[in-house]
Amino acid sequence: MNIILFGPPGAGKGTQAELLIKEYSIPHLSTGNIFRAAIKNETPLGVKVKAILDAGELVSDQTVVDLVAEELEDEKYANGAVFDGFPRTVVQAEAFDALLVKKGSQVDAFISLEVPEEELIKRILSRGQGRTDDTEEGIKNRLEVYHNETAPVLAYYKTKGQVKEIDGIGTIDEIFSRIKEALS
Ligand code: AMP
Repeated sequence: MNIILFGPPGAGKGTQAELLIKEYSIPHLSTGNIFRAAIKNETPLGVKVKAILDAGELVSDQTVVDLVAEELEDEKYANGAVFDGFPRTVVQAEAFDALLVKKGSQVDAFISLEVPEEELIKRILSRGQGRTDDTEEGIKNRLEVYHNETAPVLAYYKTKGQVKEIDGIGTIDEIFSRIKEALS
């Protein structure tokens, strides 16, 4: 099963992804986690994307799509994945669809976590994970990038009738129950 977890920064995608992978025994594919690991390990990819992540900008579509295509070659994704933070542009969504078609696969569910903007800023500032992009400027930029480039991805999947909108306000367990219900 291929599940896309979608939502603005701070919506709780990472937290819900962790619960989903346990519930459905499918791996987590977070492009943000892959980039952060690459930066930490100072790999060529990490060196290339560090300034982009720090600024809250998007890594180029080509780089992201190549990365996901390569990652999906791993046998552990044979039964699908929970995609978190990808696709983040319509170009990525189109490339992802083409990639899945080539593999004889498809997106099975698109979960959109809905959280109002004031709540997002509050959550990001209080999550205290020490992410280098969690500065006020970084957050502002990520929200702007979300509105301009990522929100259209929701409209793209809506035209395909694949979107399940989930109220992202409540406890972690409450939100997870809503997701499970939407998937059942
Ligand atoms: P995240 O952990 O999903 O919030 O991602 C952290 C940062 O990684 C983002 O602000 C972007 O700089 C970069 N990033 C992650 N996923 C993508 C993607 N699909 N497309 C472009 N940039 C991405």
